[in-house]
Amino acid sequence: MRSGKELWDLVKNQLKLEMASTDFSEIFDPITEIHKIHNKYIFLIVPDILTKFRIEKFYLDTMNKLLVQIEEDKHNFKLITREVADKENSDNQKLGLTSVDSVDRQVSKRNLRSEYTFDNFVTGESNRFAWMNAIKVAESPHVTVNPLYIFGDVGLGKTHLMMAIGHYILDNNIHANVVYTTAQQFAEDYFLATNKKNINDIEKFYNYHRAADILLVDDIQFLSGKNSTQEEFFKVFEHLFETNKQIVITSDRAASDLENMMARLKSRFAWGMLVDIKSPDLNLRISILKRKLAFLIPNPIDVPNNVLEFIATTFDQNVRDLEGALRRFVSFCVSFNLPFTLESAKQSLEGITPKNKLDSFVTNDTNIDKIKQTVASYYKITVSDLESTSRKQHITYPRQVAIYLIRSRYDIPLKKIGEFFGNRDHATISHSYDKIINDINSNLQIKNDINIIESKIEESLKKKEKNN
Ligand code: ADP
Ligand code: MG
Repeated sequence: MRSGKELWDLVKNQLKLEMASTDFSEIFDPITEIHKIHNKYIFLIVPDILTKFRIEKFYLDTMNKLLVQIEEDKHNFKLITREVADKENSDNQKLGLTSVDSVDRQVSKRNLRSEYTFDNFVTGESNRFAWMNAIKVAESPHVTVNPLYIFGDVGLGKTHLMMAIGHYILDNNIHANVVYTTAQQFAEDYFLATNKKNINDIEKFYNYHRAADILLVDDIQFLSGKNSTQEEFFKVFEHLFETNKQIVITSDRAASDLENMMARLKSRFAWGMLVDIKSPDLNLRISILKRKLAFLIPNPIDVPNNVLEFIATTFDQNVRDLEGALRRFVSFCVSFNLPFTLESAKQSLEGITPKNKLDSFVTNDTNIDKIKQTVASYYKITVSDLESTSRKQHITYPRQVAIYLIRSRYDIPLKKIGEFFGNRDHATISHSYDKIINDINSNLQIKNDINIIESKIEESLKKKEKNN
């Protein structure tokens, strides 16, 4: 069997063939050492956190694919910064440990949901600040941000982000004692421990939380009004904080807005960093859908953009509902053997789609105007040219393109599309659409034009969404 280092060298050679040489040297030349091989992961040492993220975002998938080609033993690469690797080595030395025990790790991971990792967390404007701080905490617990207090409405990714911190810390140091609990669980455990008046139980409760290296407490608002539990939690907090342990808290509201909560606790929460997660914008919702699709079907590109856009436009408040809608749509198509079309999306989501959303998606005139403007400016003509009856080639062609774009994007009756273009009849609309589809398939230049126009449309719709 080849060593981790040998495997990495082979993969590195392959990568070099696939990448521009300047990029390659800058990023990969410094990576020459393996930290450890553990749980089927080969940990490569990278100089800093930025390199780590850059590789994880752009290259890690390729690296792992290459690795599979070279070796069938199903290892994957993971990256660890020099700083964290050194720390882990020195901790292990102190503890007199040389090898690691995967059972420990399973125990500590038992209540973290496996898919709630940083890898699976999609970032955008609404959650970037929270994400950055979560990364900081995960990279160097209790050093920079303590406690980290993440707040926001339900279903926006607080638990996901909090658990990602836990996973990350455990992946880099399996001896870390990561304790995840919900405030509700904490209250129940406390109640049970004290009510039985069994000294063993009380001690167990005390030790369990006080032994944490990282304490993750989800939905702290549940402690509202529970005075003795708050008192107990306060003691745990003080103990951990004073012994340099990391605390992460989530809540459905800002610390200052917590009701019936001890002032002492509220002020402790504000000692570290308070970050909020807001509702995702359209762009982020679409990216999240794309990411989740990869878990649901083998070829995510089978689902066209207009379908994703429909789902993302319809479920615009929280990610949990958005994800639920996507699952419903996919399982509907798969069980009835239907294609992934807008039609299927509407049918599958019928019962749960707010009526006004459906209408606004279908007949949003501002969106139609944006498309017309974008096409007209691309072909250097005017919107009135598009709407006119002119049959000059330099006008008919852009008009056909605009018709194609509207029809592929929205589910509007042909007659209605005709109305947008000087009352043309449905046969003309249908012909224009078919013609452009044909051209796209046979002419690279046109395919290219359409791609450019589509991305301009995305831009302009995004801008509109921002202004709203
Ligand atoms: P909260 O704790 O804020 O109520 P969760 O963390 O439970 O929300 O998130 C709800 C669902 O949405 C989860 O399935 C989670 O994976 C998903 N989710 C939320 N935000 C994101 C994101 N940025 N990227 C990927 N998935 C997300
Ligand atoms: Mg939650």
